[in-house]
Amino acid sequence: MRLSQKLFVTIREEPAEAEITSHKLLLRAGYIRRIGSGIYAYLPLMWRVLQKISQIIREEMNATGASECLLPQLQPAELWKESGRWDTYTKAEGIMFSLKDRQDRELGLGPTHEEVITTIAKDLIKSYRQLPIHLYQIQSKFRDEIRPRFGLMRGREFIMKDGYSFHSDQESLLKTYQDMDQAYRNIFSRCGLEFCAVEADSGAIGGSGSQEFMVLAAAGEDEILYTADGTYAANVEKANSLPPVAETSPFTQYELRESPNTETIAKLCDYFQCSPTVVVKNILYEVVYDSGILALVLVSIRGDQEINEVKLQNELTKLAPQYQAKTLLSLKVADAETASKWANKPLSWGYLAPNLDNDYLVSHPEIASEFICFVDETAVKLENFVTGANQKGYHVVGANWGKEFTLPKQVVNVRKAKAGDLISSDSPQVLLSARGIEVGHIFQLGTKYSQALGATYTNEAGEEIPLVMGCYGIGVSRLAQAAVEQNHDQNGIIWPVSIAPYQVIVVIPNTGDSQQVTVANQIYQELTQKGIETILDDRDERAGVKFKDADLIGIPYRVVTGRSLQEGKVEVVKRATGESELISLEKLTDTLVNYFLQS
Ligand code: ATP
Ligand code: MG
Repeated sequence: MRLSQKLFVTIREEPAEAEITSHKLLLRAGYIRRIGSGIYAYLPLMWRVLQKISQIIREEMNATGASECLLPQLQPAELWKESGRWDTYTKAEGIMFSLKDRQDRELGLGPTHEEVITTIAKDLIKSYRQLPIHLYQIQSKFRDEIRPRFGLMRGREFIMKDGYSFHSDQESLLKTYQDMDQAYRNIFSRCGLEFCAVEADSGAIGGSGSQEFMVLAAAGEDEILYTADGTYAANVEKANSLPPVAETSPFTQYELRESPNTETIAKLCDYFQCSPTVVVKNILYEVVYDSGILALVLVSIRGDQEINEVKLQNELTKLAPQYQAKTLLSLKVADAETASKWANKPLSWGYLAPNLDNDYLVSHPEIASEFICFVDETAVKLENFVTGANQKGYHVVGANWGKEFTLPKQVVNVRKAKAGDLISSDSPQVLLSARGIEVGHIFQLGTKYSQALGATYTNEAGEEIPLVMGCYGIGVSRLAQAAVEQNHDQNGIIWPVSIAPYQVIVVIPNTGDSQQVTVANQIYQELTQKGIETILDDRDERAGVKFKDADLIGIPYRVVTGRSLQEGKVEVVKRATGESELISLEKLTDTLVNYFLQS
C-alpha cells in the first residue's frame, strides 16, 4: 500500500470527544471517525484489523466444527413477542431499536439473534440424528445503549461474532460449551491479548451457566474479583464471598433514641459511636414489571455492606409471575421525589425501619398493594442491632428479629462482594480486584428460547422435546480497541503482530533522494511478494512527520531507507521496544520473515 495514494490523515491534537487512550489513539491515527453518538466509520486501516480478528475467529470456530452463516439484522417483532422479550428490549431501558415498515408492521434491528436462529432450528431440526448443530456469524449489531461511550468499546452499531448451538441434552451442550471456552482462549491468545475468564451473570439473555472473557485494562468498565491462587475469578455482578465478621453490638437494651441528622450510615455510626456491622440499613427500590405494575422493594442489609443490583434484579425476576409479568422493565432506588406516584403519606427517608406498613401505598391497579420485603443474609444473623425507626431523626438500638421486628420471609443473597473479602471459611484466599473489558461471553441457555418458540426435536424414543441451546459472543470491534488499550505507549499504538493492519512500514526519509526512493520501492515489492503486508510511506513529508506517524499507527516493524544505504544497509526499528538495528539489503527479507515466524 502506497501511502501517498491513500486517504491517510493523522491528527496531532488530543480529540476532545475521547476520554480513554485507545479511543484517542484510534481517532488520532485515522482508524475510525465518529459519525454520530455510538456510531463510527471503520476507515481502511481499521477495517484490515477487524478482518484479521474475524479471520482468527473463523479459523478457530471452523476448527470446532461450527459453520458460518449470515442472519438478517431486520427482525420481525412477532419473534420477539413469542420469546417474551419484545417489551423488555424496546420499552423503558430496553436497548433494541424498533421501527415500523410501510405496512405498519413492527420490526427491530438485531441486538442479538436467539429468536431468529431458534426459528430456523424450529423449521429445520426435526431429529436427534441432526444434532448437535452450531452456527455462527460475524456482523453489525445494533443496541441503543443508554450510555454509548469510549468509541468502539460501547457503540450503538458494532461488530459481533455470535454463535448458537443446538443439542439433544445438557451433556452435549456442556461439551460444546467447553469447546467454546477453549476456542475463545485460542482466539484471544492469537490476538495477542492478556485476558482472563470469569464467572458471569447471565443477564437478560437468560440461561444457567455463563462465563465472560475479560481483557485486563485499567480503563475497563467491568470489575473482576479474583484470588491470587487463580482458583476463583468472577465479575463483581456475580461474585460471592464472605463479609467480614460483625462486631458485637454495644446496645443490649431495646430503645428508641433520638439521632438528629443521621440519615447516612457514616453519620449514624459516628453519632452512636458504633460499627456499621451492628446496623441494619433499609433501602427502598422501585421496580416496574413488564405488566406495568410498579412494586416497592424494601431491602434490609448489614450497614457496612452494599447491594449488588444485578443479584437484586435476579431475585425480583423470580417474583415476576406474582405481578402477571415475565420480567422487569426497570429498577431504581426510590426517593422522596418519585414517591409522590405511589406513597400516600411522607416517608422518613434516611430513617426507614425493616418494616413499612402497606398503608403507605396508594391504592391503584398499577401499584402493588404490598411492599416486597427482602432481608440479605448478612442482616439475618445480627443481634441487638441499630436500625431506623420510620421516624425522622430517630433510630432504634438493641433491636432483634423475632422481637421488635419480624424477619422478612424472603432471605436473599444480594450483597456485593468486594476486594479483601474471604471467599470461604475454609480458604485463606482473599479477593483481589482488577478492571476488565468484556470481549466475549459464553452461555448455557438451556431450553428458554426453544420452549418459548416451540423448537423441538424427536429423540431416540420418539418423544418430541425442546432443543437444548448454547450461545457464544465476541465483541469484534470492542476487542480491536481493547487490544489498543492494552498495547500502546506515549507515541501511539503498538499492534500485536497478528492483528496489525500491516506488518511493515517502509519509510523514505527524503523523497528527493532517488536512491532512497528506488531502494524503498524494491524492498516494498519484495516484501509484498513474500506475503508480508507492507506500507510504503512515499509521501512528500518531512522524515520526522513520517516517523511520528509510523509510531502512531503502530505498525510492528519500520524499515528506513536512510543514510545507511551508503553501506548497503537499512535501519529496522521494532515498534514495541524501539530497538533498532542496521540490516544489509540482501538479508532484510529473510530477517523480517523470520521475525514473523517467531511472533
Ligand atoms: P455489556 O455488559 O458490556 O453491555 P453484554 O453483556 O450486554 O455487554 P453480550 O450480549 O454478552 O454483551 O454480547 C457479546 C459481546 O458483544 C460482549 O461480550 C461484548 O464484547 C460485545 N458488546 C456488547 N455490547 C457492545 C457494545 N455496545 N459495543 C461494542 N461491543 C459490545
Ligand atoms: Mg455479556
